[in-house]
Amino acid sequence: MNFDQFVCKVKGVRQQSDLLQDRITQEIPEQEHLLVETFDQLSTSLEELYVAEEELRQQNEQLVEYQQKIDKERQRYQELFDFAPDGYIISDTYGKILEANRAASQLLAIDKNRLAGKLLISFVPQERRGEFRKQIHCLYKKNQIKDWEIDLHNYHKTLFNCEISASTINDNNGDCIGFRWLFRDVSARKLAEAKIRFVEMQNFKLEQSSRLKSQIVAVLSHELRTPLNAVIGFADVLLRLNRSQLTPQSLNIVLTIIKNGKELLKLINSMLDFARLEEGKLAIRLQQFNIKELIKKITEDLCFSANQKKIGLDVHINIQNVVVINDPIRLQQLLTNIIINAIKFTEEGTVSVELKELNQDKIIITIKDTGIGISEIDLKYIFQAFRQVDQSKTRNYQGTGLGLAIVKDLLDLMGGTITVESILGEGSTFSVELPREVSC
Ligand code: ADP
Repeated sequence: MNFDQFVCKVKGVRQQSDLLQDRITQEIPEQEHLLVETFDQLSTSLEELYVAEEELRQQNEQLVEYQQKIDKERQRYQELFDFAPDGYIISDTYGKILEANRAASQLLAIDKNRLAGKLLISFVPQERRGEFRKQIHCLYKKNQIKDWEIDLHNYHKTLFNCEISASTINDNNGDCIGFRWLFRDVSARKLAEAKIRFVEMQNFKLEQSSRLKSQIVAVLSHELRTPLNAVIGFADVLLRLNRSQLTPQSLNIVLTIIKNGKELLKLINSMLDFARLEEGKLAIRLQQFNIKELIKKITEDLCFSANQKKIGLDVHINIQNVVVINDPIRLQQLLTNIIINAIKFTEEGTVSVELKELNQDKIIITIKDTGIGISEIDLKYIFQAFRQVDQSKTRNYQGTGLGLAIVKDLLDLMGGTITVESILGEGSTFSVELPREVSC
């Protein structure tokens, strides 16, 4: 009996009770008191029935409210199910699809309604169906499978990598009555992983070949240095002992041998240093020395080159404490590289070298020139090995393209930094910051 029928019944009983009261008072006056008593009891019962009716009404209203809430929740879950980014499928225990969301229908390239009734295994390639059956068996036993990767094909037989998680749906007795499946297309991730593996492999090969290259350069440079030193040495001896007996042509040849030999030796030494630095085999030897003296010595050594080009080489020393701890030979090498460049790329004007204290713990050496300058784009590359600015502009200038790469590597070892500011056609300023005391 539903609530409305119950209310109807209560109404009927009430009408009958009213009728009964009329009849009692009209038809059976001699037993009136007995009947009135009975009738009173009936009225009380009727009242109780009214109260029960009211309670039932309230319960009914509450039930309607709950039902609405449940409907809303169900709607929300249905939307979540439908719009979830992964494919969700509900199947029976044979793997027959009962319900599927949008993502699942997109993944399997078939309309949602046409999916219902199809067997999941029909989307598994023939050769992997045995494995799929085993997994269903496993699902029965363990209640769930997680992140199982398998290739599936969609309705049009296009394969894709899929990651599947599934769990059982149980009835109130705990018996399995179906499965819920989550399908995730991981083709893009797999592709990205394969690409990363490929890049890692390439990097590994590159590292290996770079190490090999550095080793070859180191061995070759080392082997070339010995005979080259001998050639320069012999030419020097020839010049010293027989200068007066040499014809002008022979003298020229010997001088060229010495000049080119020295250039070649410089190149070989740079290559050897660079190879060692790249291999991490070049160590700096720290000692305490006077930085002011070192700067003076470097600029004096290079004064001749500047004079030859008729450009000035100014030195400004603004430092109180001249004592530093560093590798003087390597510091000389790196500063020489920068100053030689400044002279090389300046046709008129001045190259100025300034030494300053930044604070108690840091010094800064600035090399400023009025040369050809470097464009903003080229500034990004000049510290890379063998990178020289556009050949059409620098072809008049000799060089290996290793000088600044060595500078950078040496500064890394010393815990220092280098910055460049430059305006094309106006000049460049290289600033080298160094700790006063370099530590290993
Ligand atoms: P290089 O042996 O060619 O001088 P470096 O590594 O010392 O090699 O310098 C790399 C490039 O940076 C140079 O070829 C040049 O194009 C540019 N460069 C370096 N110093 C200067 C400078 N002071 N003025 C203009 N260009 C510079």
